[in-house]
Amino acid sequence: MYDYHTHSSFSDDSHTPMNEMIETAINLGFKEIAITDHYDPDYPDQEYPFEIDFLGYHKSLNEAKETYKGRIKVVKGIEMGIQHGKTLEKCITAAKSYDYDFILGSFHCAEGMDLNSKAFFEGRSIEDSYIAFYTYMLNCLKSYKEYDILGHINVIDRYAERITSPSVYMDLVDEILKIIIYDGKGIEINTSSYRFGLEDTTPSKKILQRYIELGGEIVTIGSDAHIPRSLGYCLDRGIDMIKSAGIRYLATFDQRKAHFVPIKNL
Ligand SMILES: [Zn+2]
Ligand SMILES: [Zn+2]
Repeated sequence: MYDYHTHSSFSDDSHTPMNEMIETAINLGFKEIAITDHYDPDYPDQEYPFEIDFLGYHKSLNEAKETYKGRIKVVKGIEMGIQHGKTLEKCITAAKSYDYDFILGSFHCAEGMDLNSKAFFEGRSIEDSYIAFYTYMLNCLKSYKEYDILGHINVIDRYAERITSPSVYMDLVDEILKIIIYDGKGIEINTSSYRFGLEDTTPSKKILQRYIELGGEIVTIGSDAHIPRSLGYCLDRGIDMIKSAGIRYLATFDQRKAHFVPIKNL
């Protein structure tokens, strides 16, 4: 198995040492694990600034790559929290200053507010919140290109009081998917949505199918684990969904280049 979204104690919201995460993946028989710790510059919640010790992080990743060679491939990743304006510059600098295998671009905030705090949803309808969220994502992705895979595209489903009908926002998602495809990027199947009690992965099958219809073919899968117990959680269900949508290859990354593993060989 290939888990392309995991966190360690270099993330503000995880206490798990990187080695513990990797050794759990080895015990589970995984072929690759991408460590994708958070860098979310200008995150509005001061208790969780989501800054990262880049030097320490890369030192640990390089050591882990070496230590576990032959047992598992450790993929040097990062989860880059994308926001507009000056934050985009910080993300671009971070992406270009270090050698990553894999950059997961994610939206945890929009319009300067973090979705988790619910502030983003206040004073407007759920429908308007969805439209604002995807409009924001679309505008950022028009100028931000330093990522390989867009993480959990419909993360808003986790935080909204209720999930609205795709008809409200699918036009915007279409535009986002077209940019992703045009830029040669891919999307992630994030199975943490099962942990959050959602019945579908993030993205939903509808968004995945639309991505494929539009010509997209780069898909990674990740559990978004912050503790060893969540590692690989429901990846098999995610794989079933990818297969049923018609995708035959899973993407893996090395020095930010995509490689493809036939799903039937997993
Ligand atoms: Zn995330
Ligand atoms: Zn994550």
